[in-house]
Amino acid sequence: MNEYDSARLAALLEFRGWLPAINAEKADIILVNTCSVRAKAEESAIARIRDLKPLKERNKSLKIGVLGCMAKNRGESLLKDLPFLDFVLPPNSQLSTLNFLPTLNSQLSSNSQLSTLNSQLLFAKLANNYSAFIAIQSGCNMKCSFCIVPYVRGMEQYREPDSVIKEIEAAVAKGVSEVTLLGQTVNGYRCKGLSFAGLLKLAAGVKGIERIRFMSPHPKLYTNELLEVLLGEPKIAPHVHLPAQSGSNSILKKMKRQYTRENYLSIVEALRSSNPLYGITTDIICGYPGETEEEFEETLMLLREAEFDGAFMFAYSPREGTSSALEKEFLTEAQKKARLQKTIDLQNSITLERTRLLLGRFEKILLEKPSRKNSGEWVGKTGSFKKVIVPAQPDFREGMYVDCVIEGINGHTLRGKVSG
Ligand code: SF4
Repeated sequence: MNEYDSARLAALLEFRGWLPAINAEKADIILVNTCSVRAKAEESAIARIRDLKPLKERNKSLKIGVLGCMAKNRGESLLKDLPFLDFVLPPNSQLSTLNFLPTLNSQLSSNSQLSTLNSQLLFAKLANNYSAFIAIQSGCNMKCSFCIVPYVRGMEQYREPDSVIKEIEAAVAKGVSEVTLLGQTVNGYRCKGLSFAGLLKLAAGVKGIERIRFMSPHPKLYTNELLEVLLGEPKIAPHVHLPAQSGSNSILKKMKRQYTRENYLSIVEALRSSNPLYGITTDIICGYPGETEEEFEETLMLLREAEFDGAFMFAYSPREGTSSALEKEFLTEAQKKARLQKTIDLQNSITLERTRLLLGRFEKILLEKPSRKNSGEWVGKTGSFKKVIVPAQPDFREGMYVDCVIEGINGHTLRGKVSG
């Protein structure tokens, strides 16, 4: 989402006549877009900003601004701690950012429409030449106890369907065939009577689109209508990153996640009973305040039951400004790390089993790029988000779909051969 915001702002600036500097030394303005989701992200951003101070000392007219979630979270204190900064602005303030900059083109600068999420500026954040990210929603109405996002991104805002579809069409015009719809709780999307399921159907109708992905959905917001579209629309890739966070109902309640392990598993069951190879990945937090050994075991059981294809796993770390940061922690860092390691070990073995299920199967893969390790091979992805290496062929190009048979496995990576 942050990459998308940065690219969108860059597009707005370019539209107004600003160009990317060759390097920081040559820049008139430096904007640092920041993330607040983990304390570590803020620390790295502050270190990067401090590194810019000598530039400002050498070039007094240089403007340095901090944008994004950390700007919102730390606000004025950033200006106090880093007095060489010229401004700090929260997320979704592209217009304000532009107002802070010297105007190069007065005619364009009066067009404030460009600043909104529903801007008519045809823009798509191209992850590469064949795939684009499209933001459809920002903010979050949930209040998970460990998460800072609702405080820094605010309440949910939805982008108008017309604007989303125009952006997808603009991406297709640049050669894109795969889009990923983005939002903090992407499946909470609703605008002008259209649900997320309805928007997916509209997106699937765009000529030239072959694969649709989305992230991140919230388990509470899965509806029957959505499941029907996910399982019935062939252009929607059979993969979801569905954050579970814990397998224990008591911990889920403390986390204010608003679903139970049974609710969660019923989504997994619906997806996998229709397609046993449906890719499901997740996020897990180990060692939440007060997590007992039994509650931790319930998380391990969830991993086994859901048979995740992969997971991002973290040891709990308190985030200042969230309600869980006020809860007393009983586990030591070493105990949390030990639980994390146990979780990673179990998930690695499950990932391997899930990946092995593809051996001998025919899969359509989207070719991404030549392999870095061996120029005689290409890397591609299945719809279920599994990486496949195939021997190169002379007509291979980025963004091409090829059918292959999966013949082997190396680590967690599949090896295939183009069929036909
Ligand atoms: S759903 Fe929960 S974890 Fe996700 S962004 Fe919202 S508050 Fe944070």
